[in-house]
Amino acid sequence: MTLNFRFDNSYARLPGEFYVRQAPGSVSAPSLIALNRPLASLLHLDGEALASADGIAALCGNILPSGAEPLAMAYAGHQFGHFVPQLGDGRALLLGEIIGRDGIRRDLHLKGAGPTPFSRQGDGRAALGPVLREYLLSEAMAALGVPTTRGLAALTSGDEIWRDGPVKGALLVRVAQSHVRIGTFQYFAARADQAAVSLLADHVIARNYPELAAEKNPYLGLLNAVIRRQGELVAKWLLLGFVHGVMNTDNMSVAGETIDYGPCAFLDSYDPFKVFSSIDSHGRYAYGRQPQIAAWNLARLAETMLFLLGPDEEAQMAEANGALSSFTTIFASAYRAGLCAKLGLDPSEEADVSLAQDLLTRMAEGKADFTLVFRCLCEAAEDHACDRQVRALFAEPELYDEWAQNWHHRFDAGQRGARLARMRTANPRYIPRNHRIEEAIKAAQKGDFSPFQTLLQVLQTPYDEQPEFAEFATPPRPDEEVCRTFCGT
Ligand code: AMP
Ligand code: MG
Repeated sequence: MTLNFRFDNSYARLPGEFYVRQAPGSVSAPSLIALNRPLASLLHLDGEALASADGIAALCGNILPSGAEPLAMAYAGHQFGHFVPQLGDGRALLLGEIIGRDGIRRDLHLKGAGPTPFSRQGDGRAALGPVLREYLLSEAMAALGVPTTRGLAALTSGDEIWRDGPVKGALLVRVAQSHVRIGTFQYFAARADQAAVSLLADHVIARNYPELAAEKNPYLGLLNAVIRRQGELVAKWLLLGFVHGVMNTDNMSVAGETIDYGPCAFLDSYDPFKVFSSIDSHGRYAYGRQPQIAAWNLARLAETMLFLLGPDEEAQMAEANGALSSFTTIFASAYRAGLCAKLGLDPSEEADVSLAQDLLTRMAEGKADFTLVFRCLCEAAEDHACDRQVRALFAEPELYDEWAQNWHHRFDAGQRGARLARMRTANPRYIPRNHRIEEAIKAAQKGDFSPFQTLLQVLQTPYDEQPEFAEFATPPRPDEEVCRTFCGT
């Protein structure tokens, strides 16, 4: 049983202007809530050793594991459309990077590690609720097949911190394929530091897009690749009913992973304009606006890299505009393909795509549960008698009836077995429903972590039937519905 972190810290080898070196603050009585053993193993870490007193001390920052080079990354960002030239890691530290058994390099990031020079008014700490939320949500997203940062460990700190009142402090050990954000590029661009922007781009290419190094213009390749990954990512979000909630440019990863689980939430009933975040009063980050916002963010990324895209301004603008205009096509084709897969339809048939869109219109009108409609359609595809269950999900069941006839007709015209198999892998039975997350957090705040553990377990296999956990698939009762979510500060 050895505690051996095989750190190899490429970001720490970048010049000093990229970060501030900062040791984690200590916490008084750390205790492990969750440890992701498969992920630990992927990182050559011994789960047993991590769960020991020394392991816990390393996970919470009380001792610095050998090879760690903790630092707070510098970044800027557009927050709700307003540019802030300096944000940076105010409550998190990059401990170092580990190349996993799969050959992929990942960051080990400690959230809630104490103040850094970027903390501004904040205490650098994290509260129990947001830590549990991020751990649950990111693990659920991974199991749903969405690129995401992961939770390696969640711990209580044993310290009380102050939010609206006293709350329990906690820490999250997060793993990501990069913590470079669009805002990281903006940080250097805002300082007109072209050398740093180039160096950052080279770093991202070497780390996350090595295949681009051989291209004629690797920087244009990088812009295109980030556009592709984010376009495909946002399509996945929409297809699962996920609302990120705070798509500021500092919360969008250039590696194309979902990052920063603050006020995010999954839809219960389908509503394209749905907003959960308490601070998103104008609906900037509403469910259905996410593709538009991603494109806007990517335009901000392109601006930082213009000088790398061509020999003169005209060529640079042409390349940037060309790259940015591909977003719509990339997103639309990923979304179309995914939506048709959810319904066992053919994305190359216009009639099928319209049929799929028509269902969404009806679901919005009928306030139908997004996840359940699609999952129950798997049963209806097999046995028309199960239409009963789907129609009951609509406030006005007739909205479903007319559509169902057309759909059965189209569905039955294809290879039913293959279509059905595809539907079952595209439509989860279990998502992290907001009321279940709230329930788990409330219990944990009173010291009972069992609802959190159960929910975490259910969400490991969201596409499987788990009859013993049937209640986790059901939408909230009106009195259980969570209408507002909050940032993780
Ligand atoms: P976020 O809402 O997580 O995207 O954070 C936005 C900015 O606020 C980032 O620079 C964070 O590091 C910073 N921040 C958020 N919470 C805290 C905190 N409790 N202490 C210090 N900085 C924080
Ligand atoms: Mg953030």
